[in-house]
Amino acid sequence: IKNIAVLTSGGDAPGMNAAIRAVVRTGIYHGINMFGVMQGYQGLITDNIKPMDARSVSNILHLGGTILKTARCLEFKTDEGQQIAYNNLKKNDIDGLVVIGGDGTFTGAKRFSETFGVKVIGIPGTIDNDLVGSDFTLGYDTAINTVIEAIDKIRDTADAHDRLFFIEVMGRDSGCIALRSSIASGAEAVLLPERETSVNELINKLALGAATKKSSSIVIVAEGHKQGGAYDIAKKVKETFDHYDTKVTILGHLQRGGSPSSFDRILGSRLGFAAVNALIAGETEQMVGLKGNEIKLTSIREALTAHSFKLEPDLMEMTEVLSI
Ligand code: ADP
Repeated sequence: IKNIAVLTSGGDAPGMNAAIRAVVRTGIYHGINMFGVMQGYQGLITDNIKPMDARSVSNILHLGGTILKTARCLEFKTDEGQQIAYNNLKKNDIDGLVVIGGDGTFTGAKRFSETFGVKVIGIPGTIDNDLVGSDFTLGYDTAINTVIEAIDKIRDTADAHDRLFFIEVMGRDSGCIALRSSIASGAEAVLLPERETSVNELINKLALGAATKKSSSIVIVAEGHKQGGAYDIAKKVKETFDHYDTKVTILGHLQRGGSPSSFDRILGSRLGFAAVNALIAGETEQMVGLKGNEIKLTSIREALTAHSFKLEPDLMEMTEVLSI
């Protein structure tokens, strides 16, 4: 393999820069010419592909976002777009591609590889932690740290005023961020897309807390919860349970930003290093991921079977026990 390109696509996640740096430097270490594609698949279509050297990735390890930018590219979903992207790869003589992104990015990469035989390795970069084949995806740990930092601040004001806060965190299909941040912040309750919780159950829990002299309460709501978002839940609770002054905070996009945690910097470095080594070893259509404390390859096809992803049952049970 002589020429490898790297791109970031879909939603950005802290730690992507650490992965880019590791990809570029590992390739150069092995005498491979390295290229960066700007704005995800969009850059393949517009031929926005730049050579990268070891210094082009200096001083980025600690930065959130992605220096290669990212985009949602509809054209890449069409046969014509895929063909143009392939022509540009050929023109630049690129024989290996590392894609950093989430399930959409992997779906596009799989199709691209199947149609044109391009060698691709995926790095799971998404704060949602919703890919099979990696216990942690890049950005997930940082997102949880950001959430608990925000909740710690909210708890101060909740406590001072005997308030009930409903805090909405990211996770349309997966309650991963909600579950872990509820444990790490000591929330009174957490509402997950994966678990049915009726408004009555929630009210009973809050009433019990009030009866046992909890001065404030924090309820974390994953945005994909079936009964609605934090505003809807807060409204329904308030109709029958009016013990506290009720407030809602939607954390939103601040969860995507910020300097990556040490965990995400190290994970990004390991995954980038492993992705290039996998290409050198002749692998394709594989995702590099962390299983236990080892970096393992999982086929992209299997990585996309996210419906089989499950939240840890012991953590789910523990949230009930530790919040009494
Ligand atoms: P994420 O990778 O974070 O899940 P998206 O779902 O937006 O983000 O996917 C990123 C990009 O991957 C899309 O903008 C598109 O260019 C490409 N993509 C997604 N699905 C497909 C598909 N079925 N065929 C080709 N490309 C796709």
